[in-house]
Amino acid sequence: MSKNILFIAPPAGGKSTICARLVENDGYIHIATGNLLRDIDASSDLGRKVQDKLSKGEFVDDDIVIELLKNKLQNLNGKPFILDGFPRNLHQARVLEELLNEYHLTLDLVIELIVSENTLLKRITGRQICPNCERTYNKYFMPPRVSGICDDCDVLLTSRIDDNEETFKVRFDTYMKETYPLIDYYREKGLVVKIDGEDNIYEQIVSVINDD
Ligand code: AMP
Repeated sequence: MSKNILFIAPPAGGKSTICARLVENDGYIHIATGNLLRDIDASSDLGRKVQDKLSKGEFVDDDIVIELLKNKLQNLNGKPFILDGFPRNLHQARVLEELLNEYHLTLDLVIELIVSENTLLKRITGRQICPNCERTYNKYFMPPRVSGICDDCDVLLTSRIDDNEETFKVRFDTYMKETYPLIDYYREKGLVVKIDGEDNIYEQIVSVINDD
């Protein structure tokens, strides 16, 4: 049985890698607000506004993010979804609840990924992404066959504008202050399962999904 999942994890907690596997192997729709924001045309007025926030590691305005989310939730066509990056604070959690009610959807599982701060920093500073297929590499943990080049597309890998130590600090502090308290919010609803985010993550998650 598939479950609709929300991931709560610090920046570079490993959500996108895991989500890619769940999409490929288990038919999930991945709703990642960070990706949706990065996909906005950077030369448009909206794109410039969003890029400015992203580069500083600050939250983008709720109304922009919620519009992107609504569009995804309305086009699931019966498939299970994974939420990644939304909600990021209590206000967004309440908005999500209203939207799910409105669209007759449920949230079945909240996965908290536990990762040490040291590992997070290496993941951030080592992360490289293919601009063509969006495959993610890490120069420390998961390098491409040829340094700096995508294995599949043969193009130069890029880094996210917010993947540096300074911005990481802002994003991590904001995560602890704004997003981490959501664990308690969802724990009270009986939805939270903790997963060790450093080893066999996918296997642990599949076992939780299949657990009734
Ligand atoms: P992520 O890819 O989830 O690490 O998100 C990258 C950046 O996108 C964040 O640092 C925020 O600037 C912005 N962002 C993503 N999701 C949200 C959200 N739910 N609310 C506000 N800003 C967001």
